[in-house]
Amino acid sequence: MIIGTAKSKGLHGKEPNLSHGEHHHPHARTAGRRLLWVILFNAIITLTEYVAGLLSGSLALVSDAGHNFSDVLALILGYAGEKVVERQPTARYSFGLRRAEVLIALVNALSLVAIGAYVVIEAVDRFRNPAEIDAGILLPVALVGLFGNLFSVLILRRDRNRNLNLRAAFLHLAFDTLSSIAVVGVGVVLLFQPWVWLDLVVSLLIVVMMVWGSIGVINESLRVILQAAPSGLDPEKVHEAILAVPNVREAHGLHVWSVNSNEVFLSCHVCVSNGDATDTDQVIVAINKALEESFGIRHTTVQVETANLCRHRNGAGCCP
Ligand SMILES: [Zn+2]
Ligand SMILES: [Zn+2]
Ligand SMILES: [Zn+2]
Repeated sequence: MIIGTAKSKGLHGKEPNLSHGEHHHPHARTAGRRLLWVILFNAIITLTEYVAGLLSGSLALVSDAGHNFSDVLALILGYAGEKVVERQPTARYSFGLRRAEVLIALVNALSLVAIGAYVVIEAVDRFRNPAEIDAGILLPVALVGLFGNLFSVLILRRDRNRNLNLRAAFLHLAFDTLSSIAVVGVGVVLLFQPWVWLDLVVSLLIVVMMVWGSIGVINESLRVILQAAPSGLDPEKVHEAILAVPNVREAHGLHVWSVNSNEVFLSCHVCVSNGDATDTDQVIVAINKALEESFGIRHTTVQVETANLCRHRNGAGCCP
Protein backbone atom coordinates (compact mmCIF):
# COMPACT_ATOMS: atom_id res chain seq x y z
CA MET A 1 0.00 0.00 0.00
CA ILE A 2 2.62 2.47 0.80
CA ILE A 3 6.22 2.55 -0.08
CA GLY A 4 8.81 4.90 0.52
CA THR A 5 10.25 5.29 3.38
CA ALA A 6 11.29 8.55 3.51
CA LYS A 7 14.60 7.15 2.63
CA SER A 8 14.13 4.81 -0.24
CA LYS A 9 11.77 7.12 -2.06
CA GLY A 10 14.18 9.94 -1.66
CA LEU A 11 16.22 8.32 -4.37
CA HIS A 12 14.16 10.27 -6.82
CA GLY A 13 14.44 13.48 -4.89
CA LYS A 14 16.69 15.95 -6.60
CA GLU A 15 16.46 18.73 -4.04
CA PRO A 16 19.31 18.37 -1.60
CA ASN A 17 18.34 17.26 1.87
CA LEU A 18 14.76 18.40 1.97
CA SER A 19 14.02 16.13 4.88
CA HIS A 20 16.52 17.87 7.06
CA GLY A 21 14.23 20.58 8.34
CA GLU A 22 11.84 17.88 9.47
CA HIS A 23 13.76 17.14 12.64
CA HIS A 24 13.22 20.59 14.02
CA HIS A 25 9.61 20.73 13.06
CA PRO A 26 7.36 20.80 16.13
CA HIS A 27 4.91 18.31 14.58
CA ALA A 28 7.55 15.85 13.39
CA ARG A 29 6.98 13.59 16.40
CA THR A 30 3.26 13.38 15.75
CA ALA A 31 4.03 12.61 12.12
CA GLY A 32 6.35 9.83 13.30
CA ARG A 33 3.61 8.35 15.47
CA ARG A 34 1.12 8.56 12.61
CA LEU A 35 3.63 6.70 10.46
CA LEU A 36 3.92 3.96 13.12
CA TRP A 37 0.15 3.50 13.07
CA VAL A 38 0.15 3.28 9.30
CA ILE A 39 2.89 0.60 9.51
CA LEU A 40 0.99 -1.51 12.05
CA PHE A 41 -2.27 -1.12 10.19
CA ASN A 42 -0.77 -2.09 6.84
CA ALA A 43 1.07 -5.07 8.35
CA ILE A 44 -2.23 -6.50 9.64
CA ILE A 45 -3.95 -5.98 6.30
CA THR A 46 -1.03 -7.56 4.42
CA LEU A 47 -1.18 -10.69 6.55
CA THR A 48 -4.96 -10.89 6.22
CA GLU A 49 -4.75 -10.53 2.44
CA TYR A 50 -2.10 -13.22 2.15
CA VAL A 51 -4.01 -15.77 4.26
CA ALA A 52 -7.29 -14.95 2.52
CA GLY A 53 -5.53 -15.21 -0.86
CA LEU A 54 -4.42 -18.76 -0.02
CA LEU A 55 -7.82 -19.73 1.40
CA SER A 56 -9.88 -18.29 -1.45
CA GLY A 57 -7.47 -19.33 -4.19
CA SER A 58 -7.18 -15.76 -5.52
CA LEU A 59 -3.75 -14.95 -6.95
CA ALA A 60 -4.69 -11.27 -7.27
CA LEU A 61 -5.07 -11.10 -3.50
CA VAL A 62 -1.75 -12.90 -2.96
CA SER A 63 0.11 -10.54 -5.29
CA ASP A 64 -1.49 -7.50 -3.69
CA ALA A 65 -0.34 -8.90 -0.34
CA GLY A 66 3.16 -9.36 -1.79
CA HIS A 67 3.25 -5.76 -2.88
CA ASN A 68 1.94 -4.58 0.48
CA PHE A 69 4.52 -6.73 2.26
CA SER A 70 7.32 -4.92 0.50
CA ASP A 71 5.70 -1.56 1.28
CA VAL A 72 5.50 -2.40 4.97
CA LEU A 73 9.11 -3.60 4.89
CA ALA A 74 10.17 -0.34 3.26
CA LEU A 75 8.36 1.66 5.93
CA ILE A 76 9.83 -0.33 8.83
CA LEU A 77 13.36 -0.27 7.43
CA GLY A 78 13.00 3.40 6.65
CA TYR A 79 11.71 4.18 10.12
CA ALA A 80 14.41 2.17 11.90
CA GLY A 81 16.98 3.06 9.26
CA GLU A 82 16.55 6.77 9.81
CA LYS A 83 17.94 6.41 13.32
CA VAL A 84 20.88 4.32 12.08
CA VAL A 85 21.55 6.50 9.06
CA GLU A 86 21.84 9.64 11.14
CA ARG A 87 24.34 8.17 13.56
CA GLN A 88 27.44 10.29 13.94
CA PRO A 89 30.34 9.34 11.67
CA THR A 90 33.43 7.82 13.24
CA ALA A 91 37.03 7.96 12.10
CA ARG A 92 36.62 4.63 10.31
CA TYR A 93 33.05 5.15 9.09
CA SER A 94 33.71 8.73 8.06
CA PHE A 95 30.56 8.88 5.93
CA GLY A 96 28.51 7.52 8.81
CA LEU A 97 26.05 4.90 7.60
CA ARG A 98 24.35 7.22 5.16
CA ARG A 99 24.61 4.86 2.23
CA ALA A 100 22.64 2.23 4.16
CA GLU A 101 19.57 3.98 2.78
CA VAL A 102 20.57 2.95 -0.72
CA LEU A 103 21.28 -0.67 0.25
CA ILE A 104 17.88 -0.88 1.95
CA ALA A 105 16.14 0.51 -1.11
CA LEU A 106 17.99 -1.94 -3.37
CA VAL A 107 17.18 -5.01 -1.24
CA ASN A 108 13.56 -3.95 -1.08
CA ALA A 109 13.26 -3.39 -4.83
CA LEU A 110 14.93 -6.75 -5.54
CA SER A 111 12.51 -8.48 -3.17
CA LEU A 112 9.62 -6.94 -5.12
CA VAL A 113 11.04 -8.35 -8.35
CA ALA A 114 11.34 -11.78 -6.69
CA ILE A 115 7.72 -11.61 -5.51
CA GLY A 116 6.73 -10.58 -9.03
CA ALA A 117 8.54 -13.60 -10.51
CA TYR A 118 6.75 -15.88 -8.05
CA VAL A 119 3.36 -14.48 -9.06
CA VAL A 120 4.14 -14.88 -12.78
CA ILE A 121 5.18 -18.53 -12.31
CA GLU A 122 2.07 -19.16 -10.23
CA ALA A 123 -0.13 -17.43 -12.83
CA VAL A 124 1.23 -19.61 -15.66
CA ASP A 125 0.56 -22.70 -13.56
CA ARG A 126 -3.01 -21.64 -12.81
CA PHE A 127 -3.64 -20.72 -16.41
CA ARG A 128 -2.90 -24.35 -17.29
CA ASN A 129 -4.84 -25.79 -14.37
CA PRO A 130 -7.60 -23.32 -13.48
CA ALA A 131 -8.76 -23.67 -9.89
CA GLU A 132 -11.88 -22.31 -8.27
CA ILE A 133 -11.87 -19.04 -6.41
CA ASP A 134 -14.06 -18.41 -3.37
CA ALA A 135 -15.44 -14.92 -3.96
CA GLY A 136 -17.10 -15.09 -0.54
CA ILE A 137 -13.64 -14.81 1.05
CA LEU A 138 -12.01 -12.70 -1.66
CA LEU A 139 -14.49 -9.83 -1.77
CA PRO A 140 -14.69 -8.88 1.94
CA VAL A 141 -10.90 -9.05 2.36
CA ALA A 142 -10.34 -7.04 -0.82
CA LEU A 143 -12.74 -4.43 0.56
CA VAL A 144 -10.80 -4.33 3.84
CA GLY A 145 -7.63 -3.80 1.78
CA LEU A 146 -9.24 -0.97 -0.15
CA PHE A 147 -10.48 0.76 3.01
CA GLY A 148 -7.05 0.30 4.55
CA ASN A 149 -5.60 2.13 1.57
CA LEU A 150 -8.09 4.95 1.81
CA PHE A 151 -7.48 5.20 5.56
CA SER A 152 -3.72 5.52 5.03
CA VAL A 153 -4.28 8.12 2.32
CA LEU A 154 -6.34 10.17 4.78
CA ILE A 155 -3.72 9.88 7.52
CA LEU A 156 -0.77 10.84 5.35
CA ARG A 157 -2.69 13.53 3.46
CA ARG A 158 -1.90 16.09 6.16
CA ASP A 159 1.85 15.52 5.89
CA ARG A 160 2.10 15.14 2.16
CA ASN A 161 3.47 18.60 1.45
CA ARG A 162 6.05 18.54 4.22
CA ASN A 163 8.78 17.12 2.03
CA LEU A 164 9.48 15.33 -1.21
CA ASN A 165 9.69 11.89 0.41
CA LEU A 166 6.31 12.08 2.09
CA ARG A 167 4.83 13.41 -1.10
CA ALA A 168 6.24 10.45 -3.05
CA ALA A 169 4.86 8.09 -0.39
CA PHE A 170 1.46 9.73 -0.71
CA LEU A 171 1.44 9.43 -4.51
CA HIS A 172 2.47 5.79 -4.27
CA LEU A 173 -0.36 5.17 -1.85
CA ALA A 174 -2.87 6.81 -4.15
CA PHE A 175 -1.58 4.61 -6.97
CA ASP A 176 -1.92 1.51 -4.76
CA THR A 177 -5.55 2.36 -4.22
CA LEU A 178 -6.08 1.66 -7.92
CA SER A 179 -4.81 -1.91 -7.58
CA SER A 180 -7.03 -2.43 -4.52
CA ILE A 181 -10.03 -1.30 -6.57
CA ALA A 182 -9.05 -3.80 -9.28
CA VAL A 183 -8.95 -6.67 -6.75
CA VAL A 184 -12.36 -5.64 -5.40
CA GLY A 185 -13.56 -5.62 -9.02
CA VAL A 186 -12.38 -9.22 -9.44
CA GLY A 187 -14.33 -10.22 -6.32
CA VAL A 188 -17.51 -8.55 -7.57
CA VAL A 189 -17.27 -10.11 -11.05
CA LEU A 190 -16.56 -13.58 -9.60
CA LEU A 191 -19.77 -13.38 -7.57
CA PHE A 192 -21.71 -13.43 -10.85
CA GLN A 193 -19.39 -15.01 -13.43
CA PRO A 194 -16.88 -17.87 -13.11
CA TRP A 195 -14.18 -15.82 -14.87
CA VAL A 196 -11.16 -17.16 -13.01
CA TRP A 197 -8.82 -15.75 -15.70
CA LEU A 198 -9.73 -12.23 -14.57
CA ASP A 199 -7.97 -12.97 -11.28
CA LEU A 200 -4.81 -13.89 -13.22
CA VAL A 201 -5.02 -10.79 -15.42
CA VAL A 202 -5.29 -8.51 -12.39
CA SER A 203 -2.40 -10.27 -10.59
CA LEU A 204 -0.20 -9.80 -13.65
CA LEU A 205 -1.19 -6.12 -13.86
CA ILE A 206 -0.18 -5.70 -10.22
CA VAL A 207 3.15 -7.40 -10.99
CA VAL A 208 3.79 -5.06 -13.92
CA MET A 209 3.11 -2.08 -11.66
CA MET A 210 5.41 -3.43 -8.91
CA VAL A 211 8.29 -4.27 -11.21
CA TRP A 212 7.94 -1.00 -13.11
CA GLY A 213 8.41 0.94 -9.89
CA SER A 214 11.27 -1.30 -8.75
CA ILE A 215 13.33 -0.86 -11.91
CA GLY A 216 13.67 2.86 -11.28
CA VAL A 217 14.75 2.27 -7.68
CA ILE A 218 17.22 -0.48 -8.72
CA ASN A 219 18.74 1.82 -11.37
CA GLU A 220 19.14 4.69 -8.95
CA SER A 221 20.63 2.54 -6.16
CA LEU A 222 23.09 0.88 -8.53
CA ARG A 223 24.08 4.31 -9.77
CA VAL A 224 24.94 5.38 -6.21
CA ILE A 225 26.71 2.11 -5.38
CA LEU A 226 28.78 2.27 -8.59
CA GLN A 227 29.70 5.89 -7.76
CA ALA A 228 28.25 7.32 -10.97
CA ALA A 229 27.50 11.03 -11.13
CA PRO A 230 23.96 11.83 -9.93
CA SER A 231 21.37 11.57 -12.69
CA GLY A 232 20.24 15.17 -12.31
CA LEU A 233 23.74 16.49 -12.82
CA ASP A 234 25.80 16.76 -16.01
CA PRO A 235 29.52 16.12 -15.29
CA GLU A 236 30.45 18.05 -18.46
CA LYS A 237 28.66 21.12 -17.13
CA VAL A 238 30.43 20.74 -13.78
CA HIS A 239 33.75 20.59 -15.60
CA GLU A 240 32.89 23.73 -17.57
CA ALA A 241 31.84 25.55 -14.40
CA ILE A 242 35.22 24.80 -12.80
CA LEU A 243 37.08 25.94 -15.93
CA ALA A 244 35.06 29.17 -15.89
CA VAL A 245 36.56 30.17 -12.52
CA PRO A 246 39.18 32.93 -12.97
CA ASN A 247 42.82 31.74 -12.96
CA VAL A 248 41.87 28.10 -13.56
CA ARG A 249 43.75 26.95 -16.65
CA GLU A 250 42.83 23.29 -16.63
CA ALA A 251 40.86 20.80 -14.55
CA HIS A 252 41.33 17.03 -14.49
CA GLY A 253 40.69 13.98 -12.34
CA LEU A 254 37.12 15.15 -11.83
CA HIS A 255 34.95 12.79 -9.77
CA VAL A 256 31.34 13.53 -8.86
CA TRP A 257 29.43 10.95 -6.84
CA SER A 258 26.87 10.70 -4.09
CA VAL A 259 26.77 8.76 -0.82
CA ASN A 260 22.99 8.65 -0.72
CA SER A 261 20.06 10.17 -2.54
CA ASN A 262 20.86 13.74 -1.68
CA GLU A 263 24.49 14.26 -0.70
CA VAL A 264 26.87 14.87 -3.57
CA PHE A 265 30.66 14.78 -3.26
CA LEU A 266 33.25 16.10 -5.69
CA SER A 267 37.00 15.87 -6.04
CA CYS A 268 39.24 17.29 -8.75
CA HIS A 269 42.62 18.74 -9.59
CA VAL A 270 42.90 22.22 -11.05
CA CYS A 271 45.88 23.90 -12.64
CA VAL A 272 46.49 27.55 -11.87
CA SER A 273 49.05 29.98 -13.22
CA ASN A 274 52.44 29.68 -11.62
CA GLY A 275 53.78 32.42 -9.39
CA ASP A 276 52.70 34.53 -6.46
CA ALA A 277 50.09 36.31 -8.52
CA THR A 278 47.59 33.50 -8.00
CA ASP A 279 46.05 33.16 -4.58
CA THR A 280 45.19 29.46 -4.48
CA ASP A 281 42.82 29.87 -1.53
CA GLN A 282 40.86 32.39 -3.60
CA VAL A 283 40.63 29.86 -6.44
CA ILE A 284 39.33 27.16 -4.07
CA VAL A 285 36.78 29.52 -2.54
CA ALA A 286 35.60 30.59 -6.00
CA ILE A 287 35.27 26.97 -7.19
CA ASN A 288 33.32 25.96 -4.08
CA LYS A 289 31.03 28.94 -4.49
CA ALA A 290 30.33 28.12 -8.14
CA LEU A 291 29.72 24.43 -7.37
CA GLU A 292 27.33 25.17 -4.53
CA GLU A 293 25.40 27.84 -6.40
CA SER A 294 25.05 25.97 -9.70
CA PHE A 295 24.86 22.35 -8.55
CA GLY A 296 24.25 22.32 -4.79
CA ILE A 297 27.55 20.49 -4.23
CA ARG A 298 28.89 21.25 -0.75
CA HIS A 299 31.44 18.49 -0.11
CA THR A 300 34.48 19.15 -2.25
CA THR A 301 38.17 18.30 -2.34
CA VAL A 302 40.10 20.51 -4.72
CA GLN A 303 43.80 19.93 -5.33
CA VAL A 304 45.48 23.00 -6.73
CA GLU A 305 48.53 22.45 -8.93
CA THR A 306 50.92 24.83 -10.60
CA ALA A 307 53.24 22.23 -12.13
CA ASN A 308 52.93 18.78 -13.67
CA LEU A 309 52.28 16.91 -10.44
CA CYS A 310 50.37 14.09 -12.08
CA ARG A 311 50.15 12.62 -15.54
CA HIS A 312 47.22 11.76 -17.73
CA ARG A 313 46.88 8.16 -18.81
CA ASN A 314 48.41 9.00 -22.18
CA GLY A 315 51.54 10.21 -20.40
CA ALA A 316 51.01 13.91 -21.07
CA GLY A 317 51.54 16.24 -18.15
CA CYS A 318 48.27 17.44 -16.69
CA CYS A 319 49.06 21.11 -16.31
CA PRO A 320 49.70 22.78 -19.65
ZN1 LIG B 1 2.44 0.04 -2.53
ZN1 LIG C 1 39.60 22.45 4.26
ZN1 LIG D 1 46.64 16.61 -11.16
